[in-house]
Amino acid sequence: MPEPGQPSPRIDDQPLVECDGVSRTFGTGQRAVVAVHSVSCRIHAGDRIAMMGPSGSGKSTLLHLIAGLDTPTSGALSWPAMAETVDGLFGSVAVVFQGASLMPPLTVVENVAFPLLLAGMADAPARRAAADALAALDIGDLGQRLPEELSGGQAQRACVARVLASRPRLILADEPTGQLDSVAATHVVEVLIQAADQLGAGLVLSTHDPLIAAHLASRWQMRDGVLDSDPATSVVERGRS
Ligand code: ADP
Ligand code: MG
Repeated sequence: MPEPGQPSPRIDDQPLVECDGVSRTFGTGQRAVVAVHSVSCRIHAGDRIAMMGPSGSGKSTLLHLIAGLDTPTSGALSWPAMAETVDGLFGSVAVVFQGASLMPPLTVVENVAFPLLLAGMADAPARRAAADALAALDIGDLGQRLPEELSGGQAQRACVARVLASRPRLILADEPTGQLDSVAATHVVEVLIQAADQLGAGLVLSTHDPLIAAHLASRWQMRDGVLDSDPATSVVERGRS
């Protein structure tokens, strides 16, 4: 208990995610691939992190672990400022997956509203929130289309809209600008940063592109599954406890 007159510890001071020596190996024996090797890091609300690294360096695997969608082979992962259990993460962590992941039979607006309906929101407010998110991504006029009627870039923006509509505490975006030209890519990154600011959320975005990474305050570098950090910008090194 804090002393009288002392401020209570704010929940925001706790990391959203804490990784302690987290590794993920795929396969066994001679075929084993260590996709993520002994990564320790923390992500707080307010962090704006660009995760850089060549193809195959473990970016997607680490993002999936952080999202609670995959389980580490060794090491410990926790979400101190969020739910204590992976089940409780639903709605708190939102992922823009690498490659389009819209559900083909649903219209674009239905795709964006779907997680809100799953979380128990009524149909009309869910559709309104979905329409607002699509408008923020400049694709408000595409809500009634089917995913197959979108270009790759439009589909990618719809996936970003779906994440924003769920108002998460932590946004993980796996190469969200991969299919976009540089103007659209910059727009998507700015929308993600703006949304994270408005929500008071943490943001981790993986990218190959240094120009995209430059929009974010901190840079992480993945090399062969190992997380390196730029000491000048790193939230890994900074340690905020
Ligand atoms: P990145 O996102 O940086 O391109 P990934 O995390 O996708 O890297 O992959 C890291 C390594 O783990 C690669 O060698 C990849 O082939 C391997 N890998 C990723 N997912 C799987 C899987 N489900 N099964 C086997 N190997 C995998
Ligand atoms: Mg990847």
